[in-house]
Amino acid sequence: MAVSADELNIRVDDEEQQSFSNAVDKYFKTVFGEDQVGLWEVLQKGVIQRLPTGYAVGECTTDLMTLSMYAPESAAWHEAFHRVTELLLTEDERSVFYKIYQDKYGVSDPRSVAEGLADLFVDYTSRVGLPKNGKFGKIKTFFKSIYAGIFVVRKLGIKDTRKLFAFFNDINKGAYRTRTVSKENEDRFNRLFDGYLHYTVTNQTTGQTVDL
Ligand SMILES: [Zn+2]
Repeated sequence: MAVSADELNIRVDDEEQQSFSNAVDKYFKTVFGEDQVGLWEVLQKGVIQRLPTGYAVGECTTDLMTLSMYAPESAAWHEAFHRVTELLLTEDERSVFYKIYQDKYGVSDPRSVAEGLADLFVDYTSRVGLPKNGKFGKIKTFFKSIYAGIFVVRKLGIKDTRKLFAFFNDINKGAYRTRTVSKENEDRFNRLFDGYLHYTVTNQTTGQTVDL
């Protein structure tokens, strides 16, 4: 059951709502294609759900990505990453990235690996930015990617970082937009994640409202 904005005591004006929806739309269309509208939904009021870990402001299921109006833009990147990794890659492709993360961090629980990889992707995208056209954009992206590179290399080593970066770049460029969800991936997702992956936020001070 959705939690209302009044209950959370937060306000977003019409203009902010519109620009957030537009940004989410633009990003998902780049990653998943123009004809995939209907695959995502932006909730204008409230958040998705209250969970023991906080308020869910993003959600990925096998057929829909939902974002709360109060989510940070990075929640869109986060949910897109889940969809590509958990639902559009083949098992062989996915296992390469799972193994990189598992070997480095020593965790094997699929939900922890899925969330950990998504966090690395958000870190990467927030540092490199989204793919841009034009010379200035390219030069800037080049320097930014070195910075992001140093950050991730420290965590994972050069070889694995290269592999992950290539994958992250492909996602943001829309390299997986022609893929569809296989029955195998759908079953796996429902089995491992009970049908849902969430992006949660919480206010550490009060535990009551969403951090914006
Ligand atoms: Zn997540």
